[in-house]
Amino acid sequence: MTIRFNFPYLVGTELEYIQDAVKYGRLAGDGLYTRKCSELLEAYLGHGKVLLTHSCTAALEIAAILADIQPGDEVIMPSYTFVSTANAFVLRGGVPVFIDIRPDTLNIDERLIEAAITPRTKAIVPVHYAGVACEMDFIMEIARHHGLLVIEDAAQALGSSYKGRKLGTLGDFAAFSFHETKNIVSGEGGALVINTHHFVERAEVIREKGTNRSRFFRGEVDKYTWVDVGSSYLPSELVAAFLYAQLQHINEINQKRMLIWKKYESTLQGTAHQGHIRLPVIPEACVHNAHLFYLLTRTHAEQIELLAAMKAKGVNAVFHYIPLHATDAGQRFSKTGSSMAITEDLAWRLIRLPIYPGLGASDQHEIQRQVIDWVSDNVR
Ligand SMILES: *Cc1c(COP(=O)(O)O)cnc(C)c1O
Repeated sequence: MTIRFNFPYLVGTELEYIQDAVKYGRLAGDGLYTRKCSELLEAYLGHGKVLLTHSCTAALEIAAILADIQPGDEVIMPSYTFVSTANAFVLRGGVPVFIDIRPDTLNIDERLIEAAITPRTKAIVPVHYAGVACEMDFIMEIARHHGLLVIEDAAQALGSSYKGRKLGTLGDFAAFSFHETKNIVSGEGGALVINTHHFVERAEVIREKGTNRSRFFRGEVDKYTWVDVGSSYLPSELVAAFLYAQLQHINEINQKRMLIWKKYESTLQGTAHQGHIRLPVIPEACVHNAHLFYLLTRTHAEQIELLAAMKAKGVNAVFHYIPLHATDAGQRFSKTGSSMAITEDLAWRLIRLPIYPGLGASDQHEIQRQVIDWVSDNVR
């Protein structure tokens, strides 16, 4: 028996829409399906201009150009995140300044941000880990006070909210991912949300290879030319067609994941109450999208042993992230703006359990049983 860590969920209309896009005869970016996706997302989020990209990484890169990151400029972010959060800024010569995470949500510790601000600081990048919101009111207030931009890394957070407001609508920019490991997928894919309106026109140019082609398509100029820096950040219509099918089912997909998430929580609660493992903490201000279910073991040794025990029985549980400040590239390109004690502790105790709509009840039962049995056999 093998239980996969992830398996992309299909809603059933993906291939039909791709076929339709092919028949329509326009396969490059910014065709019918790209427009449908952007409009759907804009309506869903209720705020901001959405530009589809070929990845969340691409959306973060556009945001870094929009933020006018120059060599030596500093960007405050957590070290406990995916590499693209940092690399998008390093590509502009920017310096990620890593600060520690909160022990409860594993999100950036907002109380450490202000002390890390220097005259070179340009932006703050809160990452909504596991689709659970960062303390955005606090972060936005610091940013406004110091004249900094806020770029939400909302890669994991489509459908989540903070105090009733959708994640991705709170910072100046936000980046979503539709990578096959996320809730809504198109293989590779992403979106940039622009909530501070005066950046929209430049964002369109950067995304379209530095040209004003978007304005040309709208009939606002009679030819398009090179007007700024930029690159090719558009997804093909084939990808957008697949994505549109998925986006039409955001709530249904997130609900299916939530059933699994809640089941993990209720089943493992007893073991957690005994103090042997720790489960995710969801602050009251946050409604999350069940992107990820994790547990924390008490020690690093227990993390390694439990992962190995599950693997031996065919369950692919995994851990992440190796904190960015502790990597080779991190040492070269970034610095730390606080102690990293919580990050360095929790990163080596975290285990992610399989969670996707296609995970069967008996498979989930098996995963839970393995965790509970292992704890009762090995932890005292
Ligand atoms: C998945 C992820 C990304 C990158 O998304 P891609 O679409 O693969 O580029 C960036 N940041 C975080 C926090 C992620 O989880």
